[in-house]
Amino acid sequence: MIPSDNSTTQSPSRKREGLGVGKSASPSQAHPRPLPQAGGEIRTDWTREEIAALFDLPFTELLFRAAEVHRAHHRPDEVQLCTLLSIKTGGCQEDCGYCSQSVHADSGVEATKLMDVREVLQRAAQARDAGSQRFCMGAAWRNPKQRDMPKIVEIVKGVREMGMETCMTLGMLTPEQAQQLSAAGLDYYNHNIDTGPEYYERVITTRNYQDRLDTLDNVRAAGINVCSGGIVGMGETRADRVGFVHTLATLERHPESVPVNALVPVKGTVLGDMLADTPLAKIDDIEFVRTVALARICMPMSMVRLSAGRESMSEATQALCFMAGANSIFTGDKLLTAPNAGDDEDAALLTKLGMKSLAGEEPMRACAKEPAE
Ligand code: SF4
Repeated sequence: MIPSDNSTTQSPSRKREGLGVGKSASPSQAHPRPLPQAGGEIRTDWTREEIAALFDLPFTELLFRAAEVHRAHHRPDEVQLCTLLSIKTGGCQEDCGYCSQSVHADSGVEATKLMDVREVLQRAAQARDAGSQRFCMGAAWRNPKQRDMPKIVEIVKGVREMGMETCMTLGMLTPEQAQQLSAAGLDYYNHNIDTGPEYYERVITTRNYQDRLDTLDNVRAAGINVCSGGIVGMGETRADRVGFVHTLATLERHPESVPVNALVPVKGTVLGDMLADTPLAKIDDIEFVRTVALARICMPMSMVRLSAGRESMSEATQALCFMAGANSIFTGDKLLTAPNAGDDEDAALLTKLGMKSLAGEEPMRACAKEPAE
């Protein structure tokens, strides 16, 4: 799901209030010592063996290493707040085994038309007023049709004009569509690789792994920031999770944003039915935190997003994820069609943890703006 390497584009100004976090201390007050500058080694030549070896570290050692990497590039007490809205729900021709919006699923999700521009903008304004910095919009399509593009472009422009960052997930994109979105000012495009290449065809058959990578190439070539991650807990093995992290960490440029989802098994979907009532119905919390830690270590400057599945995680597990390097969450009580932790719960958790909403710029994007030497 769920933008140019907008190196020359100033980010829209951001309003930070509503969730009740981030209002008490300026960054300098919160950090008496300056944090290390972004730097260090950013590698895109990871081997699967290296990633597998990290996965196998004792949990405390892995967490420590991930936290070190995190602190070298990010403020450890900040988390970015995003809101995700389904602007076109259900009726998707694809057969993603985890998705309740597929026509191949018997989940009771009703298909809707693309939302009116005005309604989307109203929802974006609500999200902004509740403290969200980024508005992510998802449409259940294999790919957008050309006739939909003018409306999509209008939505992107409208949300940006209200001072929010924009992210869209619309399925596969042609190079031309990516260029159109870039010209409209889209900040991010989300297109997940979902899992490792070997497990992929067990989950989706209507488009292949290379299709996914081609869309990511088109997005990158159009100068849009890339958001790409996946889902753990789909019945895959740890080796598949290694393959998942390896694919993203060896892209020519790491995605600026890496959502890590835990499967929310929905009855009527292939995976929901397959995994229900089995020990695999929920990913082991420690294994989930390990995956987050691996994403952080292998992609040090990316924003690692805790996405679907968070509502069923304990506060302690979420805290471990933040320790392991997750630094973005979706707020609101819905993630497309799946339940999500609500704003009040999020505010209470962040307050309890002494964390606040992101005040600075995302490291990869800040670096991209620095003039070349
Ligand atoms: S492409 Fe997106 S909306 Fe369609 S089935 Fe797959 S995950 Fe669901």
